[in-house]
Amino acid sequence: MNAKEYKILIVDDSSDDREYYRRLLKKGDASKYSFIETDSGEEGLELFIKEAPDCIILDYNLPDLDGIEFLSRLQGDKALGLPIVMLTGEGNETVAVEAMKSGVQDYLIKGSINAEILQLAIQNAMEKVSLRKQLDAQRLELERSNRELDQYARIVAHDLRTPLFAIIGFLELFTSIADHKLDAEEREIVSSLQSCATTMQTLLKDVLDYSRLNGIKPEFQQLDLNETLKQVVKNLDASIQGTNATVNIPEMPVLQGNPTNLLQLFQNLIGNGIKFCRGRAPVINVGVRLEDGYYQFYIQDNGIGMPEDGIQKIFGAFERLHSNQEFAGTGLGLSICKKIVELHGGEIWVESQLDVGSTFHFTIPVRE
Ligand code: ADP
Repeated sequence: MNAKEYKILIVDDSSDDREYYRRLLKKGDASKYSFIETDSGEEGLELFIKEAPDCIILDYNLPDLDGIEFLSRLQGDKALGLPIVMLTGEGNETVAVEAMKSGVQDYLIKGSINAEILQLAIQNAMEKVSLRKQLDAQRLELERSNRELDQYARIVAHDLRTPLFAIIGFLELFTSIADHKLDAEEREIVSSLQSCATTMQTLLKDVLDYSRLNGIKPEFQQLDLNETLKQVVKNLDASIQGTNATVNIPEMPVLQGNPTNLLQLFQNLIGNGIKFCRGRAPVINVGVRLEDGYYQFYIQDNGIGMPEDGIQKIFGAFERLHSNQEFAGTGLGLSICKKIVELHGGEIWVESQLDVGSTFHFTIPVRE
């Protein structure tokens, strides 16, 4: 089988230079390259579309277009994926940087090339582009399979909720009918069943919440966070009363955000502050300040805190530092928080000290 022949488009207004490049490329394996050439940028653009060359040797100083204009006309961003070697007599670094930014794979000075340098530049340019195409294809494939996985998780979580709801209902019915006939051990079994079913229900809800955030850009609207936090406190009322917690909330800003997402964000963080507390009544302080175009929020608790090595992990899905026996949960709450903050264009992080407490910080950019 013959080795592949590469089609090279030479765009240079000097016929001597074009001839020189051809000669350099024919050194060694003369049949490796075939050539199309032109002395004008406009015709070069037409030939590029008509001939689909494997690589372009482009003179920076064309009489009708300069090299950078040529590149920008070459289908905008797509030029970044094209194998182009630019040549110039100027040897000017600014031109080189500009050319590389505009998608050129390599940049050579006319007076200082030889056969080896030019052939290597062309091979490298073609390899770089082919590698980038492979990476792009892999990235697209990964995105596709992640989307499919999310969809799968969503469907499974959604479909499992109905039978689970029925199980919880039947268990309730069973206890109401048969409770008086059960002995202590049987009652404990039924209660364990109920607790397992409730855990599963929470897990399915969290998986659904988590997968719903994937690939969907949330809609933003003007949002009064004072109202959001009032609702959060209402939703957490049972655990606030149950633990005798205090939640201190200052005046909050009105900002552009997604109401459902931000409610969930504050609820997860405040809820965790209340939950991960032992031996004392939880005190949660919420705060906000405006800095460099961002609202920076914090939620501080006086809870159990976290070890240094745990802090790195907790924003990952299903990562937990405590067992379910110690503190019930699914390990999805903080990964949901991270996703929500990122979808709003901010960052989230935590500072914590074991047995003293944790402070979660997150930013949300100010939008007009
Ligand atoms: P869950 O609360 O369901 O376990 P999260 O994703 O909300 O899941 O939290 C992950 C883990 O991070 C928790 O299991 C816990 O170990 C730790 N964590 C989260 N918030 C706090 C907090 N305020 N104080 C101490 N540990 C925390």
